[in-house]
Amino acid sequence: MAPERPYPRRDVSEDDAGRLWNWARNSTLADASALVTASSELEVRSLLASRPGRVRLVGSRMSAGRMLAPGGSSGAEVLLDVRGHRGLLAHGEDWATFAGGTVLQDVYDALARLGRMLPSSPGVIAEQTLAGALATGTHGQGLQQSSIGDALLSLRLVMADGTVEEFGADHPWFGALQVGLGTLGVVTAVTLRTVPVAVYSCVKGATGAETLESDLLVWNRGHEMAKAWWFPDDDQVHVWTAQRASTDEVAAWEAGGRQLVERTETSDAMNRAVDAALAHMRADTRILDAQGKPFRTVTRFKDFSDVTGDVYQVFMRGIATPQINVEIGVPLDRAPAVVEKIRAWHAETSPHLHYPIILRATGPSRAWLSPSEGGDTLYFGFVVYYAEDGSLSADGVDFLVEVEKLLAAEGGRPHWGKYFDDALYDWPALYPRWEEFAAVREALDPERVFGNGFTDRLFPAAASRSEVAA
Ligand SMILES: Cc1cc2nc3c(=O)[nH]c(=O)nc-3n(C[C@H](O)[C@H](O)[C@H](O)COP(=O)(O)OP(=O)(O)OC[C@H]3O[C@@H](n4cnc5c(N)ncnc54)[C@H](O)[C@@H]3O)c2cc1C
Repeated sequence: MAPERPYPRRDVSEDDAGRLWNWARNSTLADASALVTASSELEVRSLLASRPGRVRLVGSRMSAGRMLAPGGSSGAEVLLDVRGHRGLLAHGEDWATFAGGTVLQDVYDALARLGRMLPSSPGVIAEQTLAGALATGTHGQGLQQSSIGDALLSLRLVMADGTVEEFGADHPWFGALQVGLGTLGVVTAVTLRTVPVAVYSCVKGATGAETLESDLLVWNRGHEMAKAWWFPDDDQVHVWTAQRASTDEVAAWEAGGRQLVERTETSDAMNRAVDAALAHMRADTRILDAQGKPFRTVTRFKDFSDVTGDVYQVFMRGIATPQINVEIGVPLDRAPAVVEKIRAWHAETSPHLHYPIILRATGPSRAWLSPSEGGDTLYFGFVVYYAEDGSLSADGVDFLVEVEKLLAAEGGRPHWGKYFDDALYDWPALYPRWEEFAAVREALDPERVFGNGFTDRLFPAAASRSEVAA
């Protein structure tokens, strides 16, 4: 019997075969007839008031299928896409309200026009919806900030019966709503704190990985933001550290029309490690186009230079291309020990590395189910890109499977919107407020209208859930 595949192939045909897929096209979610779209809160309310059965909410569908597929219980199922309800709804001096279906790029652009930005740094792409990003704890980097949900001031939710409730930051359940896993209600409006646009100077470097354990702490604690890519095969690290730009640097950025300023001096210090990584990626993906998207995510580390720009220009450099992406957070003070374990495992087994290990940290999150809940957190990120024919490198996947086991054994918490093996995690043990979240979920959606197969496994029906204060 063929071994069970932990990650599915992606469908590369153009034919949806009457099914709805997630963005990566590695999971079918429902029959095409299950899709319902809404372009206003009123439409969401009337749909729910008609008691349509189970409703799973979708944004840009960039999460793994388990977060999106309806199902899990009998009865009608609806996939509700609220991307039609989008845009800036209102703003004040230090806040802005957006419709839940607004894509992050539109949030960032609208704020930039106001000379503002979010106090939470962005992830690498901005195609996600605001509601989708909030539901999964989407984050960027920097110890002085945390996930996008930590910029939340209030949230409007359409409940399973079609009524609307608004929750402010002083509500006792707010920590549940900041990362809600799509289980609490339909997020229709989101009010976020904003701060003036800041300009950053990002210094890029290459260094040996021998002292990564201590370097990680220095980079993250000594700078407003840091991000690193560890190439264990070559014992090298590419690191970016960002601080507020000097007056002269800001002036140069302004003079260039507020576009990213790249220094002319470049460094070729990463070129050898990048070429080795590219050779693996080419062999794994069999993509012939040397400019293919997966390759561009790593070729940018060749001949790198320091840059000045706003936080989006500096850090939102990702190229959305289908991949299996595993990202696990561990408390920052335990990260050096985890690096040491990965190093020892790598030395012992020489696993096949498809892409460098991505390292970024955030400060504590107030969201009960954020992997950053409770303290400074270092995220270890691993990527395997899909091959042209929709397959995944078996060696690349083996790497993911083994490294995830290692991180789970260290108490790691996986990113909800990415890929993970849920059998590895004891959720109530990982999250001190797990039971409280379960009780809020039960109180807001007792009939589990917004649940699906995965969330039913997470929150098995309990005859007597503890009551929560409202
Ligand atoms: C290429 C790529 C790069 C990424 N980079 C990063 C990164 O840098 N940092 C990071 O942290 N993450 C990153 N992610 C993960 C991504 O941010 C999450 O998967 C995010 O949830 C996707 O948003 P979405 O709009 O596609 O939501 P979907 O995947 O459509 O939905 C996610 C969850 O939100 C729920 N939901 C959707 N709409 C609503 C609503 N209106 N109300 C309530 N719940 C709702 C859904 O039910 C589901 O549970 C990346 C993913 C990809 C594919």
